[in-house]
Amino acid sequence: MSARRKRRRSAAPKPELRCVCGHELRRYWRFCPHCGRAQVWGDTTRVTGAECYRCGWIVSDRFSYCPWCGTDIYEEGHSAEEPLKAPNGFTFHAWCDRACGGGVEYPMPHCPWCGAGQHWNDGNDFEGDCPRCGRGVNDWMNACPWCGKDASGQDLIPEALTRVRRLLLVSRIRPWGYRVLLRPGVSGVDPRWPKIVEMDQQYVVGKRKRDEIPWPMLVGLLAHELGHSYLYHNWRWTRTERFRRAFDEVDKAYRGVDDTWVDFQRRRVATTLVDYVSTYAATHPQEYFAETFRFYVTRRGRLRDLFAELGRKRKGLVVYEKFLALHDYARGRWGGT
Ligand SMILES: [Zn+2]
Ligand SMILES: [Zn+2]
Ligand SMILES: [Zn+2]
Ligand SMILES: [Zn+2]
Ligand SMILES: [Zn+2]
Repeated sequence: MSARRKRRRSAAPKPELRCVCGHELRRYWRFCPHCGRAQVWGDTTRVTGAECYRCGWIVSDRFSYCPWCGTDIYEEGHSAEEPLKAPNGFTFHAWCDRACGGGVEYPMPHCPWCGAGQHWNDGNDFEGDCPRCGRGVNDWMNACPWCGKDASGQDLIPEALTRVRRLLLVSRIRPWGYRVLLRPGVSGVDPRWPKIVEMDQQYVVGKRKRDEIPWPMLVGLLAHELGHSYLYHNWRWTRTERFRRAFDEVDKAYRGVDDTWVDFQRRRVATTLVDYVSTYAATHPQEYFAETFRFYVTRRGRLRDLFAELGRKRKGLVVYEKFLALHDYARGRWGGT
């Protein structure tokens, strides 16, 4: 990844750049991120008078290769004998990666002069990376505009998602519009986007067999992260007497830790700390809440079973209070005090 390929900001989507489904597009996106339809960017406004015979996308008759599909389109007497910077109808964004001397426009996958593959860094304009192709995607996108696959990565973890949805349902936690995204390198919820739940894709991406994927761990991690999201979404609740009594001040300095390393596979309540449900819960009140949420949900909201286990492990009263507070809140009995 070379720094010089850092691309310029492309213009904001113009109203005429729309998919047939009506969704706005940016020029040269291969797929509509809303409906996933493949796009063909032809010479609709008659700028160059030329389209690739193979893919139908706009080209210049000075080109030797189609910059979109890589096909050899050299034509004697038309194609430029020496690479150009930018022929009519195209904009110069960078020099060819292979240094043939020609210019390329974002996001051409091939050099129109020598045909070499081009690498683009589109990170700055997008909120995340596609779990399939690694190119830039935004949180709201259903399909990746570059590879056309599910941009959220949810299709890679259907078992875990189905399981957690069912657990939330039987625990009677009402859906709050959360959105799960598989992304590289992090698991967590940013308080600025409380409904976006990011899951580290390392547990899934690159695994050849489905049985290599740690499903119980993913379900636990998902339940924990959903706990963070749920709390941010119900932040008013944290201002009540009852919540504070149970969970303390949740907004005291918080590092916004990455939860990736924690052992979310454990379904048993830890025996070590009397006043905590798990070791990780002791790190911060927000983590304590997320852990409470995880245990509550993975035990299907069955307080009696949970309390029996807490009793056997000789947990302090404060642990019970947390589960009770969540239980009552989920059932709409939070009373304000
Ligand atoms: Zn569309
Ligand atoms: Zn082509
Ligand atoms: Zn080139
Ligand atoms: Zn992709
Ligand atoms: Zn956490």
